[in-house]
Amino acid sequence: MTIRFPFDNSYARLPETFFARVVPTPVKAPQLIKLNAPLARELGLDPEALATPEGVEILAGRRIAEGSEPLAAAYAGHQFGNFVPQLGDGRAVLLGEIVDTAGTRRDVQLKGSGRTPYSRGGDGRAALGPVLREYIVSEAMAALGVPTTRSLAAVTTGEFVLREDALPGAVLTRIASSHIRVGTFQFFAVRRDEASLRRLADHVIARHYPEAASAPEPYRALLDGVVARQARLIAQWMGLGFIHGVMNTDNMSVAGETIDYGPCAFMDAYHPDTVFSSIDQFGRYAYANQPGIALWNLARLAECLLPLFSADEDASVAVAQEALAAFAPLYAEAHVGVLRAKLGLFTAQEDDAALAKDLLDRMAAAGADFTLTFRRLADAETDPAAEAALRASFGEADFDAWAQRRRARLALEPQDAATRRDAMRRADPARIPRNHRVEEAIVAAVERQDFAPFEALVAALAEPFEDRPDLAKYEEPPRPEERVTATFCGT
Ligand code: AMP
Ligand code: MG
Repeated sequence: MTIRFPFDNSYARLPETFFARVVPTPVKAPQLIKLNAPLARELGLDPEALATPEGVEILAGRRIAEGSEPLAAAYAGHQFGNFVPQLGDGRAVLLGEIVDTAGTRRDVQLKGSGRTPYSRGGDGRAALGPVLREYIVSEAMAALGVPTTRSLAAVTTGEFVLREDALPGAVLTRIASSHIRVGTFQFFAVRRDEASLRRLADHVIARHYPEAASAPEPYRALLDGVVARQARLIAQWMGLGFIHGVMNTDNMSVAGETIDYGPCAFMDAYHPDTVFSSIDQFGRYAYANQPGIALWNLARLAECLLPLFSADEDASVAVAQEALAAFAPLYAEAHVGVLRAKLGLFTAQEDDAALAKDLLDRMAAAGADFTLTFRRLADAETDPAAEAALRASFGEADFDAWAQRRRARLALEPQDAATRRDAMRRADPARIPRNHRVEEAIVAAVERQDFAPFEALVAALAEPFEDRPDLAKYEEPPRPEERVTATFCGT
C-alpha cells in the first residue's frame, strides 16, 4: 500500500535562498505513540493508513511520502533580545503542504528528524519529554479556541538523544498554517536581500492576508494584519494564564498562531510576574510582559519591511510607526473583550477593565488559582457552594468588597444569572494543561514507558469547557508538593 499525502508545496517553489533541501535522517525503530485521527481527517489523510508500519515510518522521517519535497527553512531571530543572523530549522523538516478539507493550506513538518544545514552545534533531535509537552499543550490550546500549530502525531525513535542525561528520542509531526516567522523576514533584511524580502512578503500576503493584496498599500496592510492578529492572540493567552516562555522573534508566527512550544506553561496561582522557563533568568518573557514583547517583536518585523513601504526612508518609518501605534489600542480592546467574557459581561462599560484589574490584584495578593477562580465565578452565578469556595480562597472581606463592586456593575446587564453562567462557562475553562499533570505524564512516559497518563491527559483536555466531575483530578491546582516551578526547553 502506498500512503498518499495530497501535497501541494508552495514554499519549495520559492527561491533557493529561502531554504535548504534536506532529507530527514532515518531513525532506528520508530513506534507510534499517538496519532491525532480527527486532525488527520481534516487534512484528507487516512488515520488508519498512518498507523500502519509504513505510515509510522513516514511520521518518523524514515520514509519519504510521495510528493514530499523536504526542506529546512532559513530564518534569523532575536533571542532574548540578541540578534542571531542565521538560525533556521535546525531540527525540523518541512515535508510539504496540504490544502485541507476546508481549503486552508497547511504545513506538515517533522520536529526532531535529524540534522540540517541550520543545526549549528545541535543534533537535530528532540527528546520525548518536550515532544509530549508540545503535543499536549498545542492540542489543548486548539480546544481552548486559541490559534495554534497542531500536533498530528508523536513517535518514539528507538534511539537515545544526549542531553544532560541520555533520553528517549521522539519526533513530532506538526501542522501549521505556515512556519513563517518574524525571523524569516529578518533573515533577508539583515542580508539586504530586498528581492527575497519582497518575494516573502508577497508569499505571506497570498497565503495569510489575501485581502492585503488589493489594499492601496499592500505591505502596510500586511503589517497591519500581523499587528492585529498578534494583539488578539496575546489577549487570548492572557485570558488563559498562558506563558509562552520563549517569545523570541524566531518563535513568532506571522500568521498569528501560537508556535514553538518550549518551556511554556499555564499559571496555577495568579501573579503577573510569573516565569517558568529556566532559561528566562531576568523574566523578559514573564506573563505580564507578553503584550510588550509582542509589540517589540512586531517593531522588528516593521523594520524589515521598511524598504518595501516606500523608497523614501522617512516616509517608510512614518508608515511603520503608524502601524505599530495600532497595537496598544487593539490589544487593550481585545484584552478587555476577553475579560468581559470571563466575567460574564455582555455589555461594554467604561470601567470594565478596572473591575477586572481589581479582581486580578486581589487574586495576586491572595495567590488565588487563575483558572479555578474564574470557573467558580461562573458556577457561583447559580450555586452558593461555589461562591462560598471562592470567598474562602480569597479572604472573605477581600472577595466581598470586589463582589459588591461587581454586583453594581451587573445591574447594567440585561441577562439573567443562568444565561450569564452558561456564557462564562464557555469563556472560563474548567481544565487547562496544569504543569504538574504535564510533568506527571512526561515522567511516566520517559521513565516507565507508560503512556497512559499522557493519553488520559490529552483526552481530559479535549473539551475543556465541559463540566466533567469524573475529570476533577485535572481541574484541581497542585498540592504544594506537586507544584512545578520551572520548565525546560529540553533542546
Ligand atoms: P527554539 O528556541 O527551541 O525554537 O530553537 C532555536 C533554534 O535552535 C532553532 O534554529 C532550532 O532549530 C535550533 N535548535 C534547537 N534545538 C536543536 C537541536 N537539538 N539540534 C539542532 N538545532 C536545534
Ligand atoms: Mg523556535
